[in-house]
Amino acid sequence: MNLPEFVHTYRQLPASCFEDCLPTTVAAPQYLAFNQPLAAELNLPETLRGTEQGLALFSGNKLPEWAAPLAQAYAGHQFANYVPRLGDGRAILLAELRTQDAKLVDLQLKGAGRTPYSRRGDGRSAIGPVIREYLVSEAMYALGVPTTRALAAVATGEQVFRDEALPGAILTRVASSHIRVGTMQYAASQQDPTVIKKLADYVIDRHYPGCLQTENRYLALLSQVIERQAALVAHWMSLGFIHGVMNTDNMTVSGETIDYGPCAFMEAYNPAQVFSYIDQQGRYAYKNQPAAAQWNLARLAETLLTLIHPEQDKAIELAVSALEKFPEIYQQQWLDRFAAKLGLTNASLTDKPLIDDFLQLLADSTSDFTLAFRDLSITNQPYLRRQVNIEHLQHWLERWQARLAEQSAVAGDPSAIMAGANPVLIPRNHLIQRVIDEVTTTGDLSLFNQLHRLWQNPFLDTEENKAFQAAAAPQERVCQTFC
Ligand code: AMP
Ligand code: MG
Ligand code: MG
Repeated sequence: MNLPEFVHTYRQLPASCFEDCLPTTVAAPQYLAFNQPLAAELNLPETLRGTEQGLALFSGNKLPEWAAPLAQAYAGHQFANYVPRLGDGRAILLAELRTQDAKLVDLQLKGAGRTPYSRRGDGRSAIGPVIREYLVSEAMYALGVPTTRALAAVATGEQVFRDEALPGAILTRVASSHIRVGTMQYAASQQDPTVIKKLADYVIDRHYPGCLQTENRYLALLSQVIERQAALVAHWMSLGFIHGVMNTDNMTVSGETIDYGPCAFMEAYNPAQVFSYIDQQGRYAYKNQPAAAQWNLARLAETLLTLIHPEQDKAIELAVSALEKFPEIYQQQWLDRFAAKLGLTNASLTDKPLIDDFLQLLADSTSDFTLAFRDLSITNQPYLRRQVNIEHLQHWLERWQARLAEQSAVAGDPSAIMAGANPVLIPRNHLIQRVIDEVTTTGDLSLFNQLHRLWQNPFLDTEENKAFQAAAAPQERVCQTFC
C-alpha cells in the first residue's frame, strides 16, 4: 500500500497567514488513546500507529522529517467583540496529508506549547479538555455530524496550572482544514488586499472547487459555506448539541464542527439551555445557535465583499441576498432532521406545527430530549418525565399517526427512519465528567475506553450500554462547563 503524501500547501499562502514554530518537548509522554480506525482510514505509516515513534510525534518531542510545523493566524469575534489577532496560541499544524481520495487533511497538535500567538497563555491543555474533545468529537463523528477528528491523546507527564495544578495532555486533531471565519477576517484585515484573495482562492481550491465553474466564485463560496453551516447547525439542533462558544474563530469554512471547549448535550428539553460558564448572557443558548451562525456568516461575507464585486454597493447587495437565504435553507434542514425523528419523509412547512407541538410537550414535561424521541420510535409513545395534559398528548399522537398514515409506504418504514435519526446513546456531560475525574485522580482509563467504544454505536440499544443511556440523576448533574 502506498504511504500517504505529506504536503504543506498552507505554507504557500502569504507570510502573514502563519508563523513557523516548533512544539516544546514534554517530560514523560504516555498514550491516553490512539485512534486505530482513523489511522487506518488515513493510511498513516504503520510505524506511527500507537508506537513509540508515534508517541514521540504526538507529544511533539521528536518530529519526522515530513513535518514543517506552523501556527495559523486568525482574528475573531468573541461574544461579538472583535479581537484583531488571536491565532493558534496552543495548536501547531504539522503537515497536511493527502488521503487516498485526493483530499487534504490537517494534522495538528493541540496543547504542544507556546507559539507566537500565545499571548499570556501557556500553550498547553489540561487533560480534562483533551479527554472531552477526544470523546465528543469521535461521538459526533459516529452520530454522523461533520466534525474534526481525534487521532491521539497523550499525557505529557507535566503539570499545567489553571485554578489548580492539573495533568497536561496533547490532542492530535485531524480536520479537513482549520480555516475559520476568523482566519478569513484576519486575512481581510491585512493592508495588502491580495492576502484575502489568496486565502479565498485557497479555500475554493481545497474545499469548494465547484465554485470555479460559477460566474462569481467568491459569491458562490459564500453561498456554499452558508449551506454547509445551515446544515451543520440543524444537525446539532436535532441531537440537542450545544456548542457553547460559537465565536467566529470557532466556526470552520469547511462546515465541520470545531472546538469542543464548553460544549454539552442537552438533557431536559429547554430551548434556553446554556452550559458554558462564560456565556452569562446566553448568547450561544440552544435556541440561539442558528442566529449565531447567521451572524458569523455575515462576518464571513464582509471579508469577501471586495472580491464579490468592485463596487461596494453591488457587493453588499449580492452578499446580503446570499445571507438572506440562510433562514430558508436552515429551516428546510431543520424540518428534514426533525421530521425524520418523527418518521416522516418529504417534510414541508406544514409539518412544523406537529414538530413544534411535540417539542412543547417535552418542554412542559421537562423530558429528556434524546430519550423522549427514542421512546417514541420504539413504543410509539414518548416517555415524558412529568405528567402533561393527557388530552394534549393524545391529540398530538392522533395527529402524528394521521400524518404517518398519509405517507406513502415507498417512503420507507417510519420506525426504521426514526431508529436512524434518534440515538439512544449520547455523550452525556456527567459521564464525560466522571471519566475526567477518574483519569485525573487515578489514571484509570477503563471507563474512558468503555465509553469511547460504546459511543461509536449511538443508535444501538445494547445490554452493555443500558447503564449509560439515562439522563444524569440530580446529584450527578453537570450544570456548567468550562473551556
Ligand atoms: P478557544 O477559547 O479555545 O477558542 O481559544 C481562544 C483563543 O485563545 C485562541 O487564540 C487560542 O489559541 C487561545 N488560547 C486558548 N488557550 C490557550 C493557552 N492555554 N495558551 C495559549 N493560547 C490559548
Ligand atoms: Mg477556538
Ligand atoms: Mg477551545
